[in-house]
Amino acid sequence: MLREVLRSIFKKPATSSFPFEDHVPENHRGKIKWIPEKCIYCRLCERSCPTGACKFIPPKKAGEKGTIEIDIGKCVFCYECVLACPKDALEGTLDYKLAYISKSEKADEKLRKKN
Ligand code: SF4
Ligand code: SF4
Repeated sequence: MLREVLRSIFKKPATSSFPFEDHVPENHRGKIKWIPEKCIYCRLCERSCPTGACKFIPPKKAGEKGTIEIDIGKCVFCYECVLACPKDALEGTLDYKLAYISKSEKADEKLRKKN
């Protein structure tokens, strides 16, 4: 026991310094990114989503194509939508910082992205 303790004193810590340092495991399933340039609006992603988190948002004006939105609050990160997409227009990322304090904070982020 004492030998083990002494040996551990001079070893590097086995744990990471999260949250002071990022710690993202390999193959982590993070936030999904939609790439509009690749999208053909087939809506296979929407059909393959088991929770209804992936939705096609129709265009607001004539000439626009609409968007694919993923509701993080409903998403279970199964990546079925990513697998179903025939054009690789949905991509998994390592982004894991997805917490919001309130719904309005999420809405604020949407607005920030638009501006
Ligand atoms: S990862 Fe799964 S739950 Fe999340 S949007 Fe895609 S299909 Fe739906
Ligand atoms: S499956 Fe892919 S190409 Fe089809 S609508 Fe969804 S993101 Fe676009």
